[in-house]
Amino acid sequence: MKITHIEHIGIAVKSIDEAKKYYENVLGLKCYAVEEVEDQKVKTAFFMVGQTKIELLESTSLNGPIGKFIEKRGEGIHHIAFAVEELQKSLEEVKSKNVMLVDEKGRKGAEGLNIAFLHPKSTFGVLTELCEKPE
Ligand code: ZN
Repeated sequence: MKITHIEHIGIAVKSIDEAKKYYENVLGLKCYAVEEVEDQKVKTAFFMVGQTKIELLESTSLNGPIGKFIEKRGEGIHHIAFAVEELQKSLEEVKSKNVMLVDEKGRKGAEGLNIAFLHPKSTFGVLTELCEKPE
C-alpha cells in the first residue's frame, strides 16, 4: 500500500457554526466548503492546512455515527484519513494482514473522494480512513 499524505483529520463537533469561529477567528484558517453527506448523517466543514485538511463533522441525526460518538466520548478527534493511490488494492492488502475493515469496498465520501474505514479494534484505537481521488 502506498500512503502519500494525511488527507484529513476528522473532528466531531456538536455545532459546526460554533466550532468554525475557533478555527477561523483564533487559528486563522478559512472554511472553504460545507457539505452534507446524507449517507453518513453528517454535515462537514473543511479547512486547508498545507496539503492536509481539517474536517469538522456535525451530526444531522442523533443516531448517526457522529451523534453516537459525541454521546459516548464527547467532542474531539474522530478519525485520521490517509490518501492512498489505489483504494481497493489497499483494502485487500490490509485485509490480508488481518486488519478488520468497516468497509469492504470504497464508497463515496465528502468532496467526491472514494473512502473506506478500517476498524479501530485493529488499529490501536484510531478509526482510520483510507481515501483516493477518483480518476
Ligand atoms: Zn473523513
